[in-house]
Amino acid sequence: MQTTHVRRLLGAEPTLRPTPPLSDAPAHTAWSRGVRAVVERLARVERAPLEITAVDTTVADGLRRERLTLNSPSRGAFQGTLLAPPDTTAPAPAVLVLGGKNARLEQLTGESPPDFPDRNVAEHLARSGFVTLTFEHGIGGGLDEQRRAGREEGALLAHAFALTGRSLLGALVGDTLGALDVLTSHRLVDADRVGLFGHSLGAAVALHTALLAPRPLPVCAASHLGSYPALYERLLTGYEGAVLPGILEYADLGDLYAALAPAPLHLQFGTDDAYLEPADARAAAGIVRRGYRAAAATDRLDVRELPMGHGTHVRHAADFFARALSRGAEASGASGAVGDVPAQRVHFGVAERRAVLDRVDAALASGHLTQGPGLARFEELSRTWTGREGVAVASGAAALEIALRIVGVAGRTVLVPVNTFFATAAAAVRAGARVRFVDIELDGLGIDPDALRAALDRHPDTAAVLPVHIGGIVSPALDDVISLCERRGVAVVEDAAHALGTTLGDRFAGAFGRFGAFSFFPTKVAVSGEGGLVTCANAEDAEQVRRWRDHGKSAQGSTLHDRPGGNWRMSELHAAVGTVDLERFDDTLAARRALAYEYDELLADVPGVRAHTVPAAVHSNYYKYLAYLDAPVDRALLKKRLRERHGVSLAGEVYDHLLCDQPYFASAEATRTEVGAGAGAGAGTGAGAGTGAGAGTGAGAGTGAGAGTGAGAPVVDGPFEQARWFARHHIALPLYPTLTRAEQLRVVEALRGELS
Ligand SMILES: *Cc1c(COP(=O)(O)O)cnc(C)c1O
Repeated sequence: MQTTHVRRLLGAEPTLRPTPPLSDAPAHTAWSRGVRAVVERLARVERAPLEITAVDTTVADGLRRERLTLNSPSRGAFQGTLLAPPDTTAPAPAVLVLGGKNARLEQLTGESPPDFPDRNVAEHLARSGFVTLTFEHGIGGGLDEQRRAGREEGALLAHAFALTGRSLLGALVGDTLGALDVLTSHRLVDADRVGLFGHSLGAAVALHTALLAPRPLPVCAASHLGSYPALYERLLTGYEGAVLPGILEYADLGDLYAALAPAPLHLQFGTDDAYLEPADARAAAGIVRRGYRAAAATDRLDVRELPMGHGTHVRHAADFFARALSRGAEASGASGAVGDVPAQRVHFGVAERRAVLDRVDAALASGHLTQGPGLARFEELSRTWTGREGVAVASGAAALEIALRIVGVAGRTVLVPVNTFFATAAAAVRAGARVRFVDIELDGLGIDPDALRAALDRHPDTAAVLPVHIGGIVSPALDDVISLCERRGVAVVEDAAHALGTTLGDRFAGAFGRFGAFSFFPTKVAVSGEGGLVTCANAEDAEQVRRWRDHGKSAQGSTLHDRPGGNWRMSELHAAVGTVDLERFDDTLAARRALAYEYDELLADVPGVRAHTVPAAVHSNYYKYLAYLDAPVDRALLKKRLRERHGVSLAGEVYDHLLCDQPYFASAEATRTEVGAGAGAGAGTGAGAGTGAGAGTGAGAGTGAGAGTGAGAPVVDGPFEQARWFARHHIALPLYPTLTRAEQLRVVEALRGELS
């Protein structure tokens, strides 16, 4: 009865098993990423560096031994031993050696006689030319001292971890990732040629460490192959450090090994191993083979079925590492070339993903899926970085459009900087305005006050001006822009999509104009999936936004509609993501700023490129880290070379095309309706103003082809020399909180390589 229950439980097919035929590398990569994400979530590794508190070095018997005292957050102080051939001078290949549950450190390193002939794996590998690092897992296999109900120490530990929602295996992997850092940064070790060896429990730890390591690592796993259900039946035990609780719902052991492809993998198992079934191990090997075939990496997989017990064939292991960690293998990427530096990365760590899931779960459980308590929490939290009442909406574009509809711009002119994202101007068009463009100034990249003054003179029907905080900089010129607008009774709506958290003086972006519009699209500094926010100067405006976003209801909950509002709501599910991202937003800002200051220093001596100087009064969020290329450099070619030769992708420009050159505005009615600008400056002043027609139908048009433009040709208030210069010359360096120092150095060295 009990066994049928167990069989039924363990018999279900894991959901992440790839369905054959799985025959292409990109599909395998995507699948492997899915497996790793689940492993990461279930393992809940709390990453903290291992501290080395003491080192004691001896050279004896042809080996150099460093006894290290290590300190881990989960288990406190423990011992590790680093072995190296004494004549090792050049950076050598290295292997982190993880023994089985009962393996003792002295036996692994050969300091005391091994109880099995193959126990001293670390010593063998060191004598074969590898630097090795070894430590005990700290979960003795025997009964604990007080023999609590006859339970094994490992089982007790595993239960305690499970009770708190964590896993013992995750803690072991945390220590191992720390040990990997210790090994990789050792002066004798070639950081690009490091592998993992594990036996039995140690193999489980090696496997999961490799799945969670930041780059691919060669793995040799001995006496740890099979399926979880068969291993369970054989051992009548589940997860004492060797299994992630809950993993079988997603993947079995063979799947996990298959997910390592295309990293080099050597699996060995014995036909006389009391802990596993040869037939079951063979079947698991089949799953692994299929994965390696799918990844087009069968040459990186080596499975050995050997006439041995629960042991290790050290010669095969040493041969494997000699191949996988040879210099040639490194050059061909077999030991895992460092990954590319992407243009951007959206990253939610395990704790944040859990927090999102908890919030989504609460929404689903309550049935309240939109406009609920999650939204209220998101809005309340946003205040921290805007200083104003904020109303959450469906997108940044919706935020702009709602603000402009409240201002009432239909049939009138809205002035937009010619250097901005298309959505800024498109929102004005949708709200019924005629769009006119204005040049920018090059210090803060905001609207040029002189150009604005001229434009306001030319377009006295202007209803609103839309300053845009390009790259996260709130331009000090904004003060002049605002006083110009105030004097003429023109509303200011800030497009603050780039600038959450930026301050100018003591004020946040979004707190200068009558409205501020933010976006939480995945490319921005804070994200909700899709989402936006309108910050409002007063409570009355905030109430208006709430009505517009919800189909123009005349009051909340009312069935009467007094305006053509839309579905511009933010769902509780999006608010869940946005809230969790805002909860860490102080850290996000701090990380972005630290990276930016680092770039400032690193770029100082790189020829051919100059960082944009952020004005002193501005505390930027560094949505973009902007720099300028010296005139002769071809930006498109540079970007291509950085990508192809150095694996470095630059971030997108802000922006590479002026809006007046975008096909829509270059040809649209919206820009064709009024003539008299441009070279004929002032000629058209007053024409077409205030005639109240909707978008693009501006009256007063066609009063002759002024300014030398041909009839019907688009007429704009050009020539926008400063914006054009900016669009041509700037680049944006990759900058996101998970950018590592090594990656940052790579970006700078790649630039130096291409520019000098
Ligand atoms: C992203 C962005 C928007 C639009 O935001 P969505 O959320 O995508 O609608 C508007 N203006 C600027 C400057 C932006 O960068």
